[in-house]
Amino acid sequence: MVIKPKVRGFVCITAHPAGCAANIDEQIAYVKAQGPLPKGPKKVLVIGASTGYGLASRIAAAFGSGAATIGVFFERPSEPDKPATPGWYNSAAFTKAAKAAGLYAKNFNGDAFSDALKTEVLAAIKADLGQVDLIVYSLASPRRTHPKTGVVHKSTLKPVGQSYTNKTVDTDKGIVSEITIEPASETEIADTQAVMGGEDWEMWINALDEAKLLAPGATSVAYSYIGPSVTWPVYKNGTIGLAKNDLERAAKSINATLKCNGYGRAFISVNKALVTQASSAIPVVPLYISMLYKVMKAKGNHEGCIEQIDRLYRTQMYGGTGLLFDDAGRVRIDDWEMQPDVQEAVAKLWPEVCTENLSALTDIAGYRTEFLKLFGFGVPGIDYEADVNPHVELGG
Ligand code: NAD
Repeated sequence: MVIKPKVRGFVCITAHPAGCAANIDEQIAYVKAQGPLPKGPKKVLVIGASTGYGLASRIAAAFGSGAATIGVFFERPSEPDKPATPGWYNSAAFTKAAKAAGLYAKNFNGDAFSDALKTEVLAAIKADLGQVDLIVYSLASPRRTHPKTGVVHKSTLKPVGQSYTNKTVDTDKGIVSEITIEPASETEIADTQAVMGGEDWEMWINALDEAKLLAPGATSVAYSYIGPSVTWPVYKNGTIGLAKNDLERAAKSINATLKCNGYGRAFISVNKALVTQASSAIPVVPLYISMLYKVMKAKGNHEGCIEQIDRLYRTQMYGGTGLLFDDAGRVRIDDWEMQPDVQEAVAKLWPEVCTENLSALTDIAGYRTEFLKLFGFGVPGIDYEADVNPHVELGG
C-alpha cells in the first residue's frame, strides 16, 4: 500500500508506519545523545504512552535509564485497506527498539478508564515487574465511560461564564479568522472534569497502592498547561483548565498517598505548548503555537516533547536541582515558553497576524511540518512513493 496523508480539519486519517518508526528512532537517538541517566526510573507505567508527552516519557525512561516500561494507550490497528493510527506504529517501533536493546516493554491497547484494563495492567506489573517506581499519567481523551456509573462523559473545549472571541487559524488552509465560542453549560464543565480531571489518575494510584505494586518512594507525574493570557478564556480559565485544576487537586491527594509509601511524591508538571493530536483540536492555540515556534526557534530554545521530558527528568526529577515548585506547587518545564521576552514577542505579533502575512510572521510552515510528522509524513529518508505494509504487529 502507498500511504499518503489525508488531512481532515485538525486530524490526519492516515499514518505511515516507516515514518512513525523513524520518529521513534530520532527520539531514542536524542535521549542516548544526552548520556545515561543513572538515577532515573527503572520500572515505569505510562498511561497514555503512544503519542505526544506520554510517548516521550516512555522513551526517555527506557533509553535514559534502561527502564522496563508498560505502556497503556488507545489506538486503532490497521484494517485490510486502512493504516493503523500513528500511536499504534509508534508503540510497535518503540517496542521493537526496546527489545533489541534488551529492555522489557509491554503494551496494553484499550480503555485506560476501565476497571478491566486496570486489572490486566496490575496483573502484568505483579507478574513481571513486582512494583513500579514511576507512574506517568498522560491521557488526552475526548470521552470517558465512567467505570462505576457507566455514564459516557464527553470533554469540550469552551470558555466558562462568557463567550470568547479571538483569532484562530485553519492550519490546513492557512486562513486566519475570528472565532466566537459560546460558554460551556454546567453539564459540559462537569463532563470535561470527569474526562480530563484527576479522578481516573487517583483510581490508578489507589488500585496500585491497594495491590502493593508501588515501590517505596514511587513518583507519579501528570501533565498540565497554562500558557499566555490570550488563550486563557479557552484554556486555563475554560473547561479544560477547570479540569486541570481538578488534576492539581488529585496531585495533592496522590502525593499524600505516595508520601506514606516510603516518601514518594506526586506532582503536576506544566509543559510547553506543542503540536500534538490533542493540542491541534483546541481553537486559537494552534495560532499561538505557530507564533511561539517562530519566536523560540529564532531564540534557539525551541523544544519538542522529547527535549521537554528529557530535561524534566535530567534537571529536576532524577538529577540537577531536584524538583522546583512554583507558588501553586507545580513544576514548570514551560519556563522557557513563559520567559518574558518570548511572551512579549508573541504578544506583539498577535494583533498583526492575518491570512496574508501568516507565513511571514509565524512558523505556520513549521507547525504543518510537525503536524504531518505526528502521522509519520514528511520525515527525511522515507520513500513515500514506495509500497509499505500497513499491518504491523504491536509486539510486547
Ligand atoms: P496526545 O493526544 O499526543 O496523547 C494522548 C494519549 O492518550 C495517547 O497515547 C492516547 O492513545 C491515549 N489515550 C486517549 N484516550 C485513551 C483511553 N481511553 N485509554 C487509554 N489511552 C488513551 O496528547 P498530549 O498532547 O501528549 O497530551 C498528554 C498530556 O499532556 C495531557 O494531559 C495534556 O493536557 C498535557 N499537555 C499537553 C500539551 C500540548 O501542547 N500538547 C502541553 C502541556 C500539557
